[in-house]
Amino acid sequence: MHSTPSQTSPILPWHSPQWQQLSTTWPQDRLPHALLLSGPKGMGKFQFAQRLANLLLCNQYPLPPFSPQSDLLQPCGHCKPCHLFQIGNHPDFSFIQPADIGKPIAVDQIRELIHFCSLTTSYGRYQIILLAPAEAMNRNAANSLLKLLEEPPPKTLFMLISHQPMALLATIRSRCQRLDFSRPDNTVTQHWLQQQIPHDLSARLLLNLTTQAPLAALELVHNEGLTQRRELFDTLAQLPTGKIDPISTAEQWNKLDIPQLLPWMLSWTMDLIRYASCGQAHLLVNQDRRETLQRLAKPHDLHNLFNLLDLETDAHRLIAAGANINTQGLLETIAMAWLDLGTPQRRK
Ligand SMILES: [Zn+2]
Repeated sequence: MHSTPSQTSPILPWHSPQWQQLSTTWPQDRLPHALLLSGPKGMGKFQFAQRLANLLLCNQYPLPPFSPQSDLLQPCGHCKPCHLFQIGNHPDFSFIQPADIGKPIAVDQIRELIHFCSLTTSYGRYQIILLAPAEAMNRNAANSLLKLLEEPPPKTLFMLISHQPMALLATIRSRCQRLDFSRPDNTVTQHWLQQQIPHDLSARLLLNLTTQAPLAALELVHNEGLTQRRELFDTLAQLPTGKIDPISTAEQWNKLDIPQLLPWMLSWTMDLIRYASCGQAHLLVNQDRRETLQRLAKPHDLHNLFNLLDLETDAHRLIAAGANINTQGLLETIAMAWLDLGTPQRRK
């Protein structure tokens, strides 16, 4: 329950505004009881929260109010609390996450947390609770957490991480101060990412593919995501030619990571709609696939393209919500709709 999966990370350059804000409010003793760190996956919200937890637990600073020597506070990394935190064994820190991938955060976990909050701190500073992702709490868990947030114990900081803050109970959102990570400075993220990836890859394109989230973009490079994306695109581009079979294509897709695959399809479909409606190639998001997209986007197909967009949006929503659906059937419908894009030409 007290473990943290990795060491405190260095500050990520696009986090500077948020870090600066907290470096000011904390010494003035204006830190809220609960923070909601929100923004898309891959912005580094978790690293930020870990670093803040480490800072508040570090012995280097007195408890507020105090006047800091510098305007950018850092955990020292050498004191005993820093050491315990970094090896994932600080007794005043609790990290709550789903017991398994895809499972909810259950009410039992929040009951353990209530017990944790009733203890006195071992190091006389703070008790810190990091909960991620907050939208994984089931209804009972969320209601139990709400009671804690309504009467927070003193010197306790709750940090809730959420990729979809609108999926949280409004009453939970209203008890937290929001720290938003959804709009990082693009110049900063692009510069950082370009230094992490091979020279022949474009940081700008990668960021466009991942809702501008730098860590998600980096993961795409490292986890074969780009290869999967290329293969998927090649199949899609062939469907309208009628050379491949939509049913076996859907079977192939079904073996891949569908939650990752659908946003790419959506992005290509939106590019097709963009080009079919205004013919301006520089507006396309997927610049690496520009020529094929231009070839596929036919103005007379706009109606079919919007149908396709609806199908993909619905599929994405149902799968993201964990609905019990026939994925194969859903993918077949989508593959048929891609096939239909080429229909008028093929019949000639
Ligand atoms: Zn320290």
